Amino acid sequence: VGTLYVVATPIGNLQDLTVRARDVLSRVTLLAAEDTRVSSGLMRHIGAQPRMLAVHEHNERAAAEKLLQHLQAGEDVALVSDAGTPGISDPGARVVAAMHQAGVRVEPLPGPSAVVTALSASGFERTAFRFIGFLPPKHNARLEAIRALSDATELLVLYEAPHRILDCMQDLLTGLGAAREVVVCRELTKTFETIRRGTLGELLPWMQADPNQQRGEFVIVLDGAPERVSEGLEEEQERVLQILLAELP
Ligand code: SAM
Repeated sequence: VGTLYVVATPIGNLQDLTVRARDVLSRVTLLAAEDTRVSSGLMRHIGAQPRMLAVHEHNERAAAEKLLQHLQAGEDVALVSDAGTPGISDPGARVVAAMHQAGVRVEPLPGPSAVVTALSASGFERTAFRFIGFLPPKHNARLEAIRALSDATELLVLYEAPHRILDCMQDLLTGLGAAREVVVCRELTKTFETIRRGTLGELLPWMQADPNQQRGEFVIVLDGAPERVSEGLEEEQERVLQILLAELP
């Protein structure tokens, strides 16, 4: 039985392809790719010519069946998405689940992912984060989703497309307030990479004023809501205060 390699690929800068990814992509004879045209470019870049099978949102189950046949016949397969890590706001989960079910070995090759790249450059000290991926595309549903997240104390990581970035920032400001700290990461690892930190109240007008800041791919990292002092702690503080008051002259 072959192995399914889940291979992360660059999110912009081709030099971010790992040595191991290059080795595996050059060696496998079958590539499961989100969009075969996109992956052909990467294969050309490394001089590899595997056969390709498209695995996208609409055919993932059927594609998993086909891949399983090849793996069970002893062929190794690499799974890639258009950019970054498969399965992270990208197809891949169904294929991987099918392999687990069939007892096929799944070997991940770590590498670029926009979520971790953005977090590493955000400078927030909290450890816990919630990866949201894409919010709903329509205004009402998006604002509702944002409001439902407004009390979360973890960092929030969002993906957004250029044609919705302004509307999304506007809804974030409405739902979370102008004082919420945010880091906007645009075009990570690419020529026009921009990483800017401020409050929503500062960054929305900055983005509105410059059409260049509305182009490309975006990750938005938001600080979490302030931790609420728990009631238990308030009671404890009250108890200590009473003791201190009783002892004070
Ligand atoms: N699987 C990918 C990953 O591991 O990050 C994510 C795929 S998702 C369909 C594409 C979204 O990821 C983009 O709309 C954008 O929000 C984010 N993204 C991908 N590459 C990026 C980059 N170079 N800079 C900023 N955001 C990026």
